[in-house]
Amino acid sequence: MARYKIAWLPGDGIGPEVLDAVRTVLDASGLDAEYMPGDIGWNMWLAEGNTLPEWTVELLKRSDCAFFGAVTSKPPADAMAELPRRFRGKGIKYSSALIRIRQQFDLFTCLRPCKAFPGNPGNLKEGIDIVIFRENTEGIYCGAEWPRVPQEFYAARGMERVSPNAAVSMRAITRRASQNIAQAAFEFAEKHGRKKIRAVHKANVLRATDGLFLDAVREMAREHPKIRLEEMYIDNCCLQLVLDPLKFDIILTTNLFGDIISDLCAGLVGGLGFAPSANIGRKWALFEPAHGSAPDIAGKGIANPIAAILSAAMMADWLGERKKGRDIEAAVADVIKEGKVRTPDMGGKSTTMEMGRAVAGRLR
Ligand code: ATP
Repeated sequence: MARYKIAWLPGDGIGPEVLDAVRTVLDASGLDAEYMPGDIGWNMWLAEGNTLPEWTVELLKRSDCAFFGAVTSKPPADAMAELPRRFRGKGIKYSSALIRIRQQFDLFTCLRPCKAFPGNPGNLKEGIDIVIFRENTEGIYCGAEWPRVPQEFYAARGMERVSPNAAVSMRAITRRASQNIAQAAFEFAEKHGRKKIRAVHKANVLRATDGLFLDAVREMAREHPKIRLEEMYIDNCCLQLVLDPLKFDIILTTNLFGDIISDLCAGLVGGLGFAPSANIGRKWALFEPAHGSAPDIAGKGIANPIAAILSAAMMADWLGERKKGRDIEAAVADVIKEGKVRTPDMGGKSTTMEMGRAVAGRLR
């Protein structure tokens, strides 16, 4: 029997393509794992009216961890328009399978490293090595939205009902989730010899929610006196990331800010093809490239699988197979440095599988 049970969720868009390349690499690494395929995403919406069917949830519960490719992120209104007729009128709502997994399995840490691998033509500056800790279960992603503004909203502000043509989203921040993500960041800093954490927020405007977040972060900082805590507004953070990315080490932030900063940081080191990610809870985790389904290049076999391959290195590390994790990352670094195999986003003509095979070849 294999040592690890990994739920394997290719999804749709470029998900299946990059996951094929990842399997080539994982097989070459000798990881002793059984890969259990699971249904998720757009095809499940069309077949079952549910992007995350119950049997997939059961599969996830039986696994040690999961590896996920991508799913189409249609706006809910568009998705509802394509819901098969037999499901209509049954109160079914469209929701993101990935957000549901993060919330249901309490995967409160979204860990996203952004590293400028030497020789990558997309690097804005050499030496960038930023790790983002993004709270993963709440904030503006808590799913509380009102397509019409309730009358009480105006009443509480002493306003006449201003316009029926308005909508509200709620941003929920809890002390518990803020403590969880802060603890993950400080413990990571200590374990990896990093010196500084920058808490990114907008507490001058979002006083209640980001005030609470900052309070939990400062409390955690007092328990970890060797790590320096600095605080920065989200707008200034975006500016400084572009002007001087080398001054950043670990970024600790809430859900939406972390989502946006992740893409910004990916842009500093070659784009979304280089941005891996891990969603980690207390006992279970899901690994995935940070990119989405990339419909503009899906089906062409040209997506860069490096983000997904680096996510597999993070998975090996999380499973306790640290050497395998390091070896996979070193193999990626070698292939990038050599520069013979490059996908179109790197200015080359190689395919997804050619990149996968090149990395796997270094491991054999
Ligand atoms: P979704 O709707 O699923 O979020 P999207 O197109 O809005 O898809 P991404 O999938 O994250 O968002 O893609 C953003 C851009 O980055 C696209 O132009 C896409 O082609 C490019 N991109 C994303 N991933 C990769 C990759 N692995 N290799 C090359 N280009 C990529």
